[in-house]
Amino acid sequence: MNIILLGPPGAGKGTQAKKLVEDRGVVQLSTGDMLRAARSSGTEMGNRVAAVMDRGELVTDEIVIGLIREKLEEGGKGFIFDGFPRTLAQADALGDLLTEMGMKLDAAIELKVDDEALVARIVKRAEESRAAGEPVRKDDTPEVFSDRLREYYKKTAPLLGYYYAKGDLRQVDGMAPMDQVAAQIADVLGD
Ligand code: AMP
Repeated sequence: MNIILLGPPGAGKGTQAKKLVEDRGVVQLSTGDMLRAARSSGTEMGNRVAAVMDRGELVTDEIVIGLIREKLEEGGKGFIFDGFPRTLAQADALGDLLTEMGMKLDAAIELKVDDEALVARIVKRAEESRAAGEPVRKDDTPEVFSDRLREYYKKTAPLLGYYYAKGDLRQVDGMAPMDQVAAQIADVLGD
């Protein structure tokens, strides 16, 4: 089963992706996590993208498509794409990669959340990390968040129409409590 989770930053894609991993044994492919790992291990690519990420902008299609290709080549019984694709070029590249590997997309699931709720979630996520003594993401501030949201509407929201036209788009209420969102996703997937 191969699923894309779509939605703005803070919509809960990472949380739901982890739940799908637990329940179905699929592999979570989060380009945000991959890029953060590259940064903290100080790879050349990580250093190159750090400033872009801190500004809340998107890194180049070439870099993220390369990361996804590597992970798909490692194999797995199914993939949850979390935070990828984020541009039409990435969506086309993902379609090509899946075809090349003899796989298909089962659904692109949009988590629908109001913009006002997103800022509150981001602030909470930063507070929770701080309280747990974990590093706080530099892009989880209200200021950078508004740039991330702008990038989302400009470059990623067009993917909703892209997957709708292919008949792959499914929508769930991302404002509902976490477990209810998970139940809606299970419904959409025909469980
Ligand atoms: P995320 O953890 O998904 O919110 O991603 C954090 C940051 O990583 C984003 O604001 C971008 O700078 C970068 N990023 C993650 N995924 C992508 C992607 N698919 N395309 C471009 N940039 C990405």
